[in-house]
Amino acid sequence: MRSTTFKAVIAGAGPAGLTAAYELSKQGAAVVVLESDPRYVGGISRTVNYKDFRFDIGGHRFFSKSREVENLWTEIAGPEMLQRPRSSRIYYRGQFYTYPLKPFEALSKLGLIESVLCMLSFVAARLRPIRNPKTFEEWVSNQFGRRLFRIFFKTYTEKVWGMSCSEISADWAAQRIKGLSLGSAIKHALLPKGKPKDRNQVVKTLIDTFRYPRLGPGMMWELCAEKVRQLGGVVMMGRRVVGCRFDSANNSWIVTARNADGELEEYRAEHLVSSMPIRELVAQIEPQLPDAAVQAARSLRYRDFLTVGLIVNDRGRFADNWIYIHDPGVQVGRVQNYKSWSPEMVPDARYSSYGLEYFCFEGDGLWATGDRELIELAKSEIQKVSLAASADVVDGCVIRQPKAYPVYDDAYQQHIATIRKALDEHYPTLHLVGRNGMHKYNNQDHAMMTAMLTAKNILAGERKYDVWAVNQDAEYHEAGAAGEQAAQVETRVPLSKVAGSQLQPRSDSAALPLGQ
Ligand SMILES: Cc1cc2nc3c(=O)[nH]c(=O)nc-3n(C[C@H](O)[C@H](O)[C@H](O)COP(=O)(O)OP(=O)(O)OC[C@H]3O[C@@H](n4cnc5c(N)ncnc54)[C@H](O)[C@@H]3O)c2cc1C
Repeated sequence: MRSTTFKAVIAGAGPAGLTAAYELSKQGAAVVVLESDPRYVGGISRTVNYKDFRFDIGGHRFFSKSREVENLWTEIAGPEMLQRPRSSRIYYRGQFYTYPLKPFEALSKLGLIESVLCMLSFVAARLRPIRNPKTFEEWVSNQFGRRLFRIFFKTYTEKVWGMSCSEISADWAAQRIKGLSLGSAIKHALLPKGKPKDRNQVVKTLIDTFRYPRLGPGMMWELCAEKVRQLGGVVMMGRRVVGCRFDSANNSWIVTARNADGELEEYRAEHLVSSMPIRELVAQIEPQLPDAAVQAARSLRYRDFLTVGLIVNDRGRFADNWIYIHDPGVQVGRVQNYKSWSPEMVPDARYSSYGLEYFCFEGDGLWATGDRELIELAKSEIQKVSLAASADVVDGCVIRQPKAYPVYDDAYQQHIATIRKALDEHYPTLHLVGRNGMHKYNNQDHAMMTAMLTAKNILAGERKYDVWAVNQDAEYHEAGAAGEQAAQVETRVPLSKVAGSQLQPRSDSAALPLGQ
């Protein structure tokens, strides 16, 4: 065991773990970060380098309604940040539609008769909306009309979730597509774009520009790790946390990590900050939590994701950042064009690098398919959707991301409540932060805000802030009525019937019908 007793040992060097480490190090607290990946920091927000072509795990926009988070990004990587225009389209049955949808363009591509039917169906939905919409299908039909729902939402959503839109809860649609309707889309298309008075007025799905580090999101987290080290913090790569034991005699945590050579190392700290998946963490805690909490953690579920990176001769076929593939004839859900995120994502401007995103479960057919076969599949599908000729693909790689999404099923809120209660009662110096760390399907800004507040709690020596009251927009609401409300808004269940699982979703909502 290392002789040092750290202020905090932090499991995971993703946005949450590194933010916590940075905030603590700035105040002179001794920290050690243990990251299982041997090479990359950044977690799901890392950037993978394949022969100097850089790939995100899904494109990562840097946008937050929280000024504090935006400022932290600037502090870490200000000069490296580009302001990028957003450009995305939908591919559906041989046509490309600008996204966010431009009503007049969409209607003209649909043809006169279909357009008239769409408008009539929209008017009908406005005149006679479904009262208390419960499903995704009902909610979207109310906003856009049934016909547009069928064309622009149904196929894609069912493709990525692998389940009927009538099985997906309306709450999820309301949360992810908030503020948007055909009316607001038309207004957006027609009216000159005034600057919103404050960031909170921005409709999330319609953000026109966003920030992006010139070498991808991983650059942000590499710079952050460097800053932590400069401040005296320790960031250990290739260290998988395998045991978390609380030593009550010394009121400290002894965390065991397995290094790349398979050897076990021990680290002692006053506090343990965990951004690793709750399911994994709870199984490691000693003395064990009560049975109910252990069972609850075992019941948490995750969705997985893989990207096939293709390097292609650039024929200038498309310049979008990404394209949603609604077409039911291919398995790919979305295609990223990394050169459009930043020109520096490719080492040679004659080439483009695309990421074909497939949504799956660890161990299922797609996940288990060999890399070579997946690259062949991607090559044929990129041609089918007219974005590149297979013959122009010169190389490829596969990037797998287990536990990309914590699944919100019928039971997860109850499981999390049980685990939280047990942790609060038994281990006040164990802090959960981030996405899988809190089982919250949210962006970097949320992960970072939970870590920033945790650092404040640790430095204060008391839980001044309830990290569970940070909402999906990374806004903190004081405990009490407002806090409760924020937590409820955020924990709406997107799927109504995943748990029992006659219905297995094939994807989750990073691939949104609207949104990122
Ligand atoms: C397809 C996709 C697109 C996205 N797009 C955006 C976007 O546009 N903008 C945005 O802001 N966010 C986006 N996100 C969300 C963003 O990726 C996450 O919110 C963010 O990475 C969460 O940070 P985190 O530190 O909580 O978790 P993670 O990024 O998951 O990091 C956790 C870290 O812990 C490590 N770890 C896990 N277990 C152990 C262990 N036992 N021991 C040691 N280390 C361990 C992991 O290796 C990882 O490095 C997207 C996510 C996906 C899946």
